[in-house]
Amino acid sequence: MPIFLECDRCTACCRWPGQVRLAEGEVERIAAHVGMAVEEFIQNHTRLTHRRDGLALLDQASGACAWLAGDECRINPVKPQQCRDFPNLWTFPGAAEVCRAKPVEVSPEEWQARVRAATGRDVASR
Ligand code: SF4
Ligand code: SF4
Repeated sequence: MPIFLECDRCTACCRWPGQVRLAEGEVERIAAHVGMAVEEFIQNHTRLTHRRDGLALLDQASGACAWLAGDECRINPVKPQQCRDFPNLWTFPGAAEVCRAKPVEVSPEEWQARVRAATGRDVASR
């Protein structure tokens, strides 16, 4: 049976030093959400990805995402797909040690439904 990882909102993934890549349309969506012009948002809140092939959100000095405030994501309703997809559709080395998501055994249909609700993606269970 597939295992769905139930996020407990510990925010460890938001504090992990890495990069939050912005997919197509996400700059516009986040800028609109925070009431900022797209150019201003790009200028003040993004940087080039490590491979210089796109944009990523800025980090705090600690390595945490700049949009993390306390235990809250300040752009939660429009957070990037990369954030929504973790931890069920991708992971990173060392994630198992920090992520407190609860593994729940579910039917393939339920896994698909839960992933759809969490990520907006329609993915068949593996
Ligand atoms: S955008 Fe929100 S969910 Fe994504 S890493 Fe930043 S604080 Fe976390
Ligand atoms: S580290 Fe895991 S449990 Fe914590 S917020 Fe991220 S996905 Fe959820």
